[in-house]
Amino acid sequence: MQELPRSLNFRMPADASPLGFRQKPAKVLLEVEGLARRFTDGDAAAVERVSFTMGEGELLALLGPSGCGKTTTLRMIGGFETPDAGTIRLRGRDITHLPPEKRGIGFVFQDYALFPHLDVLENVKFGLRGMSRAPAEARAREMLRLVGLEQLAERKPHELSGGQQQRVALARTLAVAPPLVLLDEPFSNLDAAMRVETRQEVRGLLKKAGSAAILVTHDQEEALALADRVAVMEAGRVVQIGTPDEIYRNPASRFVASFIGRSNILQGTADGMDADTPFGRLPLSRAANGAVTLAVRPEQIMLEPDPAGPAAVVGREYRGHDQLYWVQEGESCMLVISGPGAQIPVGARVRLRICDCVTPVN
Ligand code: ADP
Ligand code: MG
Repeated sequence: MQELPRSLNFRMPADASPLGFRQKPAKVLLEVEGLARRFTDGDAAAVERVSFTMGEGELLALLGPSGCGKTTTLRMIGGFETPDAGTIRLRGRDITHLPPEKRGIGFVFQDYALFPHLDVLENVKFGLRGMSRAPAEARAREMLRLVGLEQLAERKPHELSGGQQQRVALARTLAVAPPLVLLDEPFSNLDAAMRVETRQEVRGLLKKAGSAAILVTHDQEEALALADRVAVMEAGRVVQIGTPDEIYRNPASRFVASFIGRSNILQGTADGMDADTPFGRLPLSRAANGAVTLAVRPEQIMLEPDPAGPAAVVGREYRGHDQLYWVQEGESCMLVISGPGAQIPVGARVRLRICDCVTPVN
C-alpha cells in the first residue's frame, strides 16, 4: 500500500482524473438505461434499473459481491439474457432485442471456451470465419503477435499455461476488432501471482486494440488496478460509478466504503463541511448535517506514541512495506496503517490524529 502524503486534500473535483488533469470526454459508446431482470416471481430482482454510459475505448469494471447481479447485467448487454425492462444502445443503435451475433460485441468466457482439438492459430482464426483464407490467416497471426504468442501458434490449448490460454481467448475475441469486449471474472482460473501479471497485460492489450471493455469482478483490488472507471453494484443496483480514485476517496455509502479498501466507521454530528467526532472536529469531503456516519481510511490516521495518550495498541501486523495497528480508544477500535519505520509494541499508549477530510456515508 503506497503511503499517502499527509497533507493530501480529499476534496476532489468530480471530473478530475486520478492523475489530477482533466480528461477529454470520450465519444459515447454504450448507453445502458433502466436495465432490469427478475428470475423468479416473488424473489428480489437480480438486476434492478441499472443505468450507465461508457466512452469509446474505456475499461469499466463492474464490481460487487457474489450474487449482486454482475453476470446477469453482462449477459443482457451481450444478448445472452433477455431484460424485463430497459434499453441498450451501442454507438447510438438500439441493440436491446438483437441476438448476440448481431451486436458486434466480443465476449471472453470465464473458462476461455477454446476448442481443445484446434491449435492456437486455428482457435484465433475461428472468430474470422467470414473472411477468406489468406487475410484470415494474416489477421490471426497479427493478433498472436499482439498477445505475444506467435511462437506458440501450433500448440494445442492443453499445452499452454492458464495465462497463455487467457491470451488466446482474448486474441480470438479481439481479432474481429469489436468496439466492446465483455469479460466475466476473466482471471479467476489463474493463481494469485499470474492474476496480477495477466491483468496488466490484458489492460495493455485492450488499450492497444482500442476496444472498450466491461470487466466483471468481485475483487476490488483487480477493479481498482485495471479499470478506467468502476461501477459498484449492490443487490442488483449500481450504487456508485467513478474513477478508482473517486470511489476510494469519496465512497458514496458505508457499503462502498467497506467493500472497496478498508474503512473505520465513526459516528459524529455534522454542520456543513465539518463534524464533531470522538476524535475532535474534522473536515468533511462533502457537506452533511446532523447525525452522520463517517468513513475514515486507515492511512488517514496518524499514530503517535504518548504515555499519557487516551488510546492503546491492541494488535499489530507487520507487512514489510507497512504495518497495520488495531488501536482501542474508548468504544472505538480503529485500524491504522503506518509506514514500516517506527514500531510500536502491543500494549503501548498512543494518541490518534485524523489528518484528512473524512467522508459522510449515511
Ligand atoms: P453475480 O455475477 O454478481 O455473482 P448473478 O448475476 O450471477 O450475480 O446473479 C444475481 C442473482 O440472480 C443471484 O441471486 C442468482 O442466484 C440469480 N440468478 C442468476 N441467474 C439465474 C438463473 N438463470 N435463474 C435463476 N436465478 C438466477
Ligand atoms: Mg458472476
